[in-house]
Amino acid sequence: MGNFVKKTIALVAHDHKKSELVEWAGDHIEQLKKHDLVATGTTGGLLADKLSLSIHRFKSGPLGGDQQIGALIAERKLDCLIFFWDPLNPAPHDPDVKALLRLCSVWNLPVACSRSTADLLITSPLFSSDEYQRFIPDY
Ligand code: PGA
Repeated sequence: MGNFVKKTIALVAHDHKKSELVEWAGDHIEQLKKHDLVATGTTGGLLADKLSLSIHRFKSGPLGGDQQIGALIAERKLDCLIFFWDPLNPAPHDPDVKALLRLCSVWNLPVACSRSTADLLITSPLFSSDEYQRFIPDY
């Protein structure tokens, strides 16, 4: 379906969701390897260690990593966010978490906050096809 387009995907998981994200990334490793990957510090370290994925690591989330990924979104340098945030435990950087999710809505960025949504997103034939052009709002 169409021509392949390499995307930049950000991966972020809160502490209690990190093992789930590593498992998910393992399930989709062949797909993920075709793209440029970025992550918050600890999440990226785990993905690199456990799955040998090549991944650019920003700062740890609570130290500004979420905001660095938000900046990528604002600069239109990100195509997708896989964000396994933890609904059962408070995060010290909750304002950053909200800000990151807010920017996904501002820029109509595909974001998956659950494993099922992430499954459907990464396996969509349109994910990396030039047949799908994401609408980017013109503010
Ligand atoms: P971490 O950050 O990958 O550095 O743990 C994730 C987050 O809490 O946003």
